[in-house]
Amino acid sequence: MLQLVSMQQTFTFLETPIEYLKGVGPIRAELLKKELQVSTFGEFLTLFPFRYVDRSKFLKISEIKEENSYIQIKAKVVRIQTIGTPRNQRLVATVRDETGEIELVWFQGIKWVAEKLSPLQEYIIFGKPSVFNGHWNIPHPELEIPPVKPLPLREIIRPIYSSTEKLKSKGLDYKGLGRLVKNLLLHPKFLIQENLTPEILTALHLINRQDAFVNIHFPQSPELLKKAQIRLKFEELFFIQLRLAKQRIGRLNKKSGNKFLKVGDFVNQFYFHHLTFELTNAQKRVIKEIRADLGSGNQMNRLLQGDVGSGKTLVALMTILIALDNNYQSCLMAPTEILAKQHFQTISGMLSGLDVNVKLLTGSTKQKERKEIQKGLLLGDIHLLIGTHALIEENVQFKKLGLVVIDEQHRFGVAQRAKLWEKSVVTPHVLVMTATPIPRTLAMTLYGDLDSSVIDEMPPGRKPVLTKHVYDKEQLKVFRFLKDKIAEGQQVYIVYPLIKESETLDLKNLMDGYQTVIQAFPPPSYAVSMIHGQMKQTEKDQEMKRFLERKTQILVATTVIEVGVDVPNAAVMVIENAERFGLSQLHQLRGRVGRGNDQAYCILISGYELSAEARKRLSTMVRTTDGFEIAETDLQLRGPGDLQGTQQSGILNLRIADIVKDEKILKYARSLANEILLDDPDLKLEKNDKLALHLRQMDLRQQNWGLIS
Ligand code: ADP
Ligand code: MG
Repeated sequence: MLQLVSMQQTFTFLETPIEYLKGVGPIRAELLKKELQVSTFGEFLTLFPFRYVDRSKFLKISEIKEENSYIQIKAKVVRIQTIGTPRNQRLVATVRDETGEIELVWFQGIKWVAEKLSPLQEYIIFGKPSVFNGHWNIPHPELEIPPVKPLPLREIIRPIYSSTEKLKSKGLDYKGLGRLVKNLLLHPKFLIQENLTPEILTALHLINRQDAFVNIHFPQSPELLKKAQIRLKFEELFFIQLRLAKQRIGRLNKKSGNKFLKVGDFVNQFYFHHLTFELTNAQKRVIKEIRADLGSGNQMNRLLQGDVGSGKTLVALMTILIALDNNYQSCLMAPTEILAKQHFQTISGMLSGLDVNVKLLTGSTKQKERKEIQKGLLLGDIHLLIGTHALIEENVQFKKLGLVVIDEQHRFGVAQRAKLWEKSVVTPHVLVMTATPIPRTLAMTLYGDLDSSVIDEMPPGRKPVLTKHVYDKEQLKVFRFLKDKIAEGQQVYIVYPLIKESETLDLKNLMDGYQTVIQAFPPPSYAVSMIHGQMKQTEKDQEMKRFLERKTQILVATTVIEVGVDVPNAAVMVIENAERFGLSQLHQLRGRVGRGNDQAYCILISGYELSAEARKRLSTMVRTTDGFEIAETDLQLRGPGDLQGTQQSGILNLRIADIVKDEKILKYARSLANEILLDDPDLKLEKNDKLALHLRQMDLRQQNWGLIS
């Protein structure tokens, strides 16, 4: 016991293990760790209520419309019944207000509740309504006799914490969690250090940190709740931005990049003799931005954004050639094997006739070839290595790596990028290409440490893909349209969704579709290819090849074609069960067509019954082909948590802020962070001590996570 106490004293208050909190103990502590990833007082404090209920407001029974959301009513008990066999009993109390009746139901603790309930008594009833047999009821509500006097202001707002079944079984429902938070706030040592400077607090009219934590959990008034939210949202976004900006500015101040001063034969030959088209103005502008970085003596760390087909790959290639003109090797890393191969083929094709040695390295590269590649890289014979994650393996070493291009389908972790940097003494220049545009706010947060270039212009002559949404019953009409297009010599994709729950079901879905397609497009007039996830790579390649060589007119596929594949002659994209796809996926798929000169079409087929969100997705696709607009809508519909690639990045595990709803705060936090660093790039001034300290603590915490996971 003594030992425990002395152990406890070695922690600061916020670092104290949660088991020492009154009401927790080892068993609940274990559960809190498992279920909510909370192991210290500090982490528990940032487990903010996900909503609040105003205890002075009541819903009328006739107004109940929504399931599974907490409500509060005031009603009189009119009937109490015990129903069912003794083994399977429930207690039903019918209550009434002036607008109607609703049943309260208990399956457990029946006797106890029955004794306490008084007929004709009015209660305040709090719970989550649900529908059973077509009637509303509230299972296991909380009851309270209305107080004679009005509630004091500070008890009016009640915090609701999210809990889990396991926690509930140990008494930690939202109320139980609330009790623990209260214990923490009432702890004799409870004290929270301010981490913002007085200047910031005054300028932004923010409340202090301690008051914010108290009021976010137990608001003393609606106004203070609002202030607590703003203060904590600002703090959260500000420190992320401060850290990103500090990294960026630190890099810019370091003068530690390879200087690529020359534009030489490789670039000139390619540009004047191999490039068959004129660069778009956007491409020219971006290449200029990149050249300025490369010649600056700083290490480039640049994000290149542009819509599918806007010509990012070409910009990357020009950058690679600049590196080569300065005697540096490059590598290009893609997220999947298919995409790496596609890059390899496209880039090799574009470079044919130039004396550039390009190699492909992926997980399936044979040992012998792998060895040869490793040798060639060390000797400097290989100028450009294209590949997947295989590139960051330790035994891949370059003679003189000067440039890393990362093509991201999903975001590679920052840690993975860092691994690539370790591959040369001087950190290579880094160009990150995204497959599709990223919403502004997300880019600020996910890529805030990078400089940004945007290609906002499509190559000339590209006609926007015409998009139409139809219901499944119009399948015949769609097929007739496809026949016309095929008769004109065009090729067609028909895509089926992956339903993650079951691979066999996915396959069946696809096979059924394939059968339908074959029946509508029978041989020998038509030939149909099929690709799905369970085929061997060689089979997939074979089928893809048949389609590319125009031996088949239709490619039926699951979303494997989502990345990479470039078939200029394919002008029609049909997406079955389009309501099942996310917006960015739909946009990616549509980007597969419209790469040739013909007018391209995208047909979205869906069922008749659509959720509001699905309807919005489909109508957005029909309305616009602008990838930036689509990305913004996607973010608004789904929230940042669900966007591809954001979960694993960790940076968006925001506790309270929401980059969509709190865009204004985010932008303000970003500009303030930049302003402060402009003055004091290393946060060395005394007045910024608090900020520097907090950043150090953040880094420490992240390192510890790194050790754990
Ligand atoms: P992204 O990588 O942005 O999706 P790509 O670089 O793959 O786009 O370019 C798509 C297609 O457009 C390629 O076939 C490419 O050769 C072509 N392309 C790129 N830039 C231009 C341009 N300025 N004019 C005409 N075609 C271009
Ligand atoms: Mg591309």
